[in-house]
Amino acid sequence: MANKEEITKILDILDKTYPNAHCELNFRTPFQLLVSTILSAQSTDNTVNKVTEKLFAKYPTLNDFLHLTEKELEKEIKEVGLYKNKAKNILGMCRELAARFNGQVPQNRDDLMSLPGVGRKTANVVLSNAFGIPAFAVDTHVFRVSNRIGLANSNNVEKTEEQLMEVIPKDKWIKAHHWLIWHGRRICHARKPKCHECPIKMYCNMGKKM
Ligand code: SF4
Repeated sequence: MANKEEITKILDILDKTYPNAHCELNFRTPFQLLVSTILSAQSTDNTVNKVTEKLFAKYPTLNDFLHLTEKELEKEIKEVGLYKNKAKNILGMCRELAARFNGQVPQNRDDLMSLPGVGRKTANVVLSNAFGIPAFAVDTHVFRVSNRIGLANSNNVEKTEEQLMEVIPKDKWIKAHHWLIWHGRRICHARKPKCHECPIKMYCNMGKKM
Protein backbone atom coordinates (compact mmCIF):
# COMPACT_ATOMS: atom_id res chain seq x y z
CA MET A 1 0.00 0.00 0.00
CA ALA A 2 1.07 3.59 -0.56
CA ASN A 3 2.54 5.43 2.43
CA LYS A 4 1.00 8.52 4.01
CA GLU A 5 3.09 10.96 1.99
CA GLU A 6 2.30 9.19 -1.29
CA ILE A 7 -1.41 9.11 -0.46
CA THR A 8 -1.42 12.86 0.15
CA LYS A 9 0.30 13.42 -3.19
CA ILE A 10 -2.03 11.05 -5.07
CA LEU A 11 -5.12 12.79 -3.64
CA ASP A 12 -3.66 16.18 -4.44
CA ILE A 13 -3.02 15.22 -8.08
CA LEU A 14 -6.49 13.70 -8.46
CA ASP A 15 -8.03 16.86 -7.00
CA LYS A 16 -6.13 19.01 -9.50
CA THR A 17 -6.97 16.64 -12.38
CA TYR A 18 -10.69 16.36 -11.59
CA PRO A 19 -11.60 19.57 -9.73
CA ASN A 20 -15.23 19.33 -10.82
CA ALA A 21 -15.73 15.61 -10.19
CA HIS A 22 -19.30 14.95 -9.15
CA CYS A 23 -22.03 12.33 -9.26
CA GLU A 24 -22.88 11.79 -12.93
CA LEU A 25 -26.41 10.55 -12.28
CA ASN A 26 -29.00 13.30 -12.79
CA PHE A 27 -31.45 13.84 -9.94
CA ARG A 28 -33.40 16.60 -8.23
CA THR A 29 -34.33 14.94 -4.93
CA PRO A 30 -32.96 12.21 -2.63
CA PHE A 31 -35.82 9.98 -3.80
CA GLN A 32 -34.82 10.42 -7.46
CA LEU A 33 -31.18 9.65 -6.61
CA LEU A 34 -32.26 6.50 -4.79
CA VAL A 35 -34.25 5.34 -7.84
CA SER A 36 -31.40 6.25 -10.22
CA THR A 37 -28.81 4.44 -8.12
CA ILE A 38 -30.91 1.28 -8.03
CA LEU A 39 -31.27 1.55 -11.81
CA SER A 40 -27.51 2.03 -12.28
CA ALA A 41 -26.47 -1.49 -11.24
CA GLN A 42 -24.87 -3.07 -14.31
CA SER A 43 -25.91 -0.08 -16.46
CA THR A 44 -24.01 3.07 -17.38
CA ASP A 45 -24.94 6.43 -15.86
CA ASN A 46 -25.55 7.63 -19.40
CA THR A 47 -28.21 4.99 -20.05
CA VAL A 48 -29.80 5.61 -16.65
CA ASN A 49 -29.91 9.39 -17.26
CA LYS A 50 -31.66 8.86 -20.60
CA VAL A 51 -34.27 6.66 -18.93
CA THR A 52 -34.79 8.89 -15.88
CA GLU A 53 -35.07 12.06 -17.95
CA LYS A 54 -38.40 10.76 -19.28
CA LEU A 55 -39.31 8.78 -16.17
CA PHE A 56 -38.94 11.68 -13.70
CA ALA A 57 -40.66 14.09 -16.09
CA LYS A 58 -43.75 11.87 -15.92
CA TYR A 59 -43.38 10.57 -12.36
CA PRO A 60 -41.24 12.96 -10.28
CA THR A 61 -42.25 11.95 -6.75
CA LEU A 62 -42.71 8.97 -4.49
CA ASN A 63 -46.46 9.51 -4.65
CA ASP A 64 -46.38 9.25 -8.45
CA PHE A 65 -44.44 5.98 -8.23
CA LEU A 66 -46.93 4.56 -5.74
CA HIS A 67 -49.59 4.69 -8.46
CA LEU A 68 -47.50 2.72 -10.95
CA THR A 69 -47.94 -0.98 -11.58
CA GLU A 70 -44.90 -3.21 -12.01
CA LYS A 71 -45.69 -3.65 -15.71
CA GLU A 72 -45.98 0.11 -16.23
CA LEU A 73 -42.63 0.75 -14.55
CA GLU A 74 -40.97 -2.08 -16.48
CA LYS A 75 -42.07 -0.39 -19.71
CA GLU A 76 -40.50 2.91 -18.61
CA ILE A 77 -37.13 1.43 -17.64
CA LYS A 78 -36.71 -1.42 -20.11
CA GLU A 79 -33.50 0.06 -21.60
CA VAL A 80 -31.55 -0.63 -18.39
CA GLY A 81 -30.20 -4.07 -17.55
CA LEU A 82 -32.19 -6.31 -15.19
CA TYR A 83 -35.20 -4.02 -15.57
CA LYS A 84 -37.80 -6.53 -14.34
CA ASN A 85 -35.98 -7.09 -11.09
CA LYS A 86 -35.31 -3.39 -10.69
CA ALA A 87 -38.98 -2.48 -11.28
CA LYS A 88 -39.99 -4.93 -8.57
CA ASN A 89 -37.37 -3.60 -6.12
CA ILE A 90 -38.14 0.07 -6.83
CA LEU A 91 -41.86 -0.37 -6.20
CA GLY A 92 -41.14 -2.44 -3.09
CA MET A 93 -38.76 0.28 -1.91
CA CYS A 94 -41.48 2.93 -2.55
CA ARG A 95 -44.03 1.02 -0.49
CA GLU A 96 -41.54 0.69 2.38
CA LEU A 97 -40.72 4.40 2.27
CA ALA A 98 -44.41 5.21 2.52
CA ALA A 99 -45.18 2.62 5.22
CA ARG A 100 -42.11 2.91 7.47
CA PHE A 101 -40.42 6.24 6.78
CA ASN A 102 -43.27 8.69 6.32
CA GLY A 103 -42.42 8.97 2.63
CA GLN A 104 -38.90 10.28 3.35
CA VAL A 105 -35.61 8.75 2.23
CA PRO A 106 -33.84 7.79 5.48
CA GLN A 107 -30.50 9.40 6.26
CA ASN A 108 -28.73 6.46 7.82
CA ARG A 109 -27.18 3.36 6.29
CA ASP A 110 -29.05 0.68 8.23
CA ASP A 111 -32.47 2.08 7.34
CA LEU A 112 -31.46 2.56 3.71
CA MET A 113 -30.14 -1.00 3.51
CA SER A 114 -33.42 -2.34 4.91
CA LEU A 115 -35.14 -1.20 1.68
CA PRO A 116 -35.60 -3.61 -1.26
CA GLY A 117 -32.84 -3.30 -3.87
CA VAL A 118 -30.59 -1.18 -1.64
CA GLY A 119 -27.17 -2.59 -0.82
CA ARG A 120 -24.25 -0.94 0.94
CA LYS A 121 -22.93 0.78 -2.19
CA THR A 122 -26.32 2.29 -3.06
CA ALA A 123 -26.82 3.41 0.55
CA ASN A 124 -23.39 5.09 0.56
CA VAL A 125 -24.08 6.84 -2.76
CA VAL A 126 -27.35 8.25 -1.39
CA LEU A 127 -25.87 9.27 1.98
CA SER A 128 -22.97 11.12 0.40
CA ASN A 129 -24.58 12.63 -2.70
CA ALA A 130 -28.09 13.40 -1.47
CA PHE A 131 -27.29 14.35 2.12
CA GLY A 132 -23.56 15.21 2.17
CA ILE A 133 -22.96 12.57 4.86
CA PRO A 134 -19.39 11.20 4.55
CA ALA A 135 -19.48 7.65 3.18
CA PHE A 136 -17.25 5.77 0.74
CA ALA A 137 -19.21 3.99 -1.96
CA VAL A 138 -16.99 1.37 -3.57
CA ASP A 139 -18.14 0.61 -7.11
CA THR A 140 -16.21 -1.25 -9.78
CA HIS A 141 -14.10 1.83 -10.68
CA VAL A 142 -13.27 2.78 -7.08
CA PHE A 143 -12.36 -0.84 -6.35
CA ARG A 144 -10.11 -1.24 -9.40
CA VAL A 145 -8.34 2.14 -9.26
CA SER A 146 -7.77 2.24 -5.49
CA ASN A 147 -6.24 -1.23 -5.51
CA ARG A 148 -4.06 -0.45 -8.53
CA ILE A 149 -2.58 2.69 -7.01
CA GLY A 150 -2.16 1.31 -3.51
CA LEU A 151 -4.83 3.28 -1.64
CA ALA A 152 -6.13 -0.18 -0.82
CA ASN A 153 -4.84 -3.70 -1.01
CA SER A 154 -7.73 -6.12 -1.01
CA ASN A 155 -9.67 -8.49 -3.22
CA ASN A 156 -13.10 -7.52 -1.89
CA VAL A 157 -15.15 -4.34 -1.79
CA GLU A 158 -15.90 -4.40 1.95
CA LYS A 159 -12.22 -4.49 2.91
CA THR A 160 -11.42 -1.89 0.23
CA GLU A 161 -14.05 0.45 1.72
CA GLU A 162 -12.57 -0.04 5.21
CA GLN A 163 -9.02 0.62 4.00
CA LEU A 164 -10.04 3.73 2.03
CA MET A 165 -11.81 5.16 5.09
CA GLU A 166 -8.68 4.47 7.11
CA VAL A 167 -6.15 6.14 4.82
CA ILE A 168 -8.22 9.02 3.40
CA PRO A 169 -9.27 11.90 5.69
CA LYS A 170 -13.02 11.83 6.34
CA ASP A 171 -13.57 15.31 4.90
CA LYS A 172 -12.25 13.99 1.55
CA TRP A 173 -14.30 10.77 1.32
CA ILE A 174 -17.06 12.18 -0.88
CA LYS A 175 -14.68 13.96 -3.25
CA ALA A 176 -12.19 11.08 -3.35
CA HIS A 177 -14.98 8.68 -4.31
CA HIS A 178 -15.74 10.87 -7.33
CA TRP A 179 -12.03 11.37 -8.22
CA LEU A 180 -11.51 7.60 -8.32
CA ILE A 181 -14.64 7.02 -10.42
CA TRP A 182 -13.71 9.78 -12.87
CA HIS A 183 -10.16 8.45 -13.14
CA GLY A 184 -11.49 4.93 -13.75
CA ARG A 185 -13.92 6.11 -16.42
CA ARG A 186 -11.54 8.44 -18.23
CA ILE A 187 -8.02 6.96 -17.91
CA CYS A 188 -7.65 3.89 -15.70
CA HIS A 189 -9.94 1.64 -17.72
CA ALA A 190 -10.38 -1.99 -16.69
CA ARG A 191 -8.92 -3.54 -19.85
CA LYS A 192 -6.65 -0.97 -21.43
CA PRO A 193 -5.68 1.69 -18.91
CA LYS A 194 -4.09 4.75 -20.52
CA CYS A 195 -1.03 4.60 -18.26
CA HIS A 196 1.04 6.75 -20.62
CA GLU A 197 -1.24 9.75 -19.94
CA CYS A 198 -1.96 9.01 -16.29
CA PRO A 199 -0.99 11.85 -13.91
CA ILE A 200 -0.39 9.44 -11.01
CA LYS A 201 1.59 6.79 -12.86
CA MET A 202 4.69 7.45 -10.74
CA TYR A 203 2.75 6.16 -7.70
CA CYS A 204 1.24 3.13 -9.40
CA ASN A 205 2.95 -0.25 -9.74
CA MET A 206 1.43 -0.75 -13.20
CA GLY A 207 2.43 2.76 -14.26
CA LYS A 208 6.01 2.41 -13.01
CA LYS A 209 6.50 -0.53 -15.37
CA MET A 210 5.66 1.61 -18.41
S1 SF4 B 1 -0.70 4.13 -14.16
FE1 SF4 B 1 -2.18 2.95 -15.35
S2 SF4 B 1 -2.99 1.41 -13.96
FE2 SF4 B 1 -1.94 2.96 -12.72
S3 SF4 B 1 -3.54 4.38 -12.11
FE3 SF4 B 1 -2.64 5.17 -13.95
S4 SF4 B 1 -3.89 4.38 -15.62
FE4 SF4 B 1 -4.33 3.17 -13.80
